[in-house]
Amino acid sequence: MHLLIVEDEKELAAIIKEGLIEEGYAVEVAHDGEEGLYMAEHYPVDAIVLDIMLPKMNGIELLKALRAKGITTPVIMLTAMDTLSDKVEGLDVGADDYLTKPFDFEELLARIRALLRRKSDAKQAVIRIADIEINTKSHEVTRGGKAINLSAREYLLLECLAYNKDTVLSRTAITEHIYNEDFDMDSNVVDVYINYLRNKIDKGFEKKLIHTVRGAGYMLKDESEAGEPEEK
Ligand code: CA
Repeated sequence: MHLLIVEDEKELAAIIKEGLIEEGYAVEVAHDGEEGLYMAEHYPVDAIVLDIMLPKMNGIELLKALRAKGITTPVIMLTAMDTLSDKVEGLDVGADDYLTKPFDFEELLARIRALLRRKSDAKQAVIRIADIEINTKSHEVTRGGKAINLSAREYLLLECLAYNKDTVLSRTAITEHIYNEDFDMDSNVVDVYINYLRNKIDKGFEKKLIHTVRGAGYMLKDESEAGEPEEK
């Protein structure tokens, strides 16, 4: 499960991130509203923890923009003061829950779990692309009905490509997605994992699904599909 934290207080963001990683979540952090909106739109995150007071674009504006684009990722808003108007406004523009600062980390965890539970009940658990099936709950993957054994990191990479089907992902975007820890960006690592994944997913199959887009990155695409790629 992937979470996005949009919080300009860097220390607080770092503490939340660390705590969530310990709980087994993959975590992205944005420090201003514009960056947050970009990440919320382009990264396949499962839930967003969104502060209201943010530079460049505040949390309410960010959420409005997100919902206007039809993106329904669940959002917990953080309000600095327990003011009723903040809450009402947040819920009006599409927040799923809110939490007043200062908050207890356990409480945040509980709210995130509740949101994700609601979401996973609603969302389709199995992604199908060509003859691949990816069960996003059990992490079981099959191609042509044959089980494919992936490491945790290979699975994350495949899931990331699958959620973004027909969209080119840069090495940087992939790296940020499959690694929790801040990490020395060596994009060769992505190439290595793509090779591992190709050996398991595409090797021995006539139809290749993982495509290299020269100078841009990688994309999962079923080229036999007719018509325009789906709007993302
Ligand atoms: Ca703030």
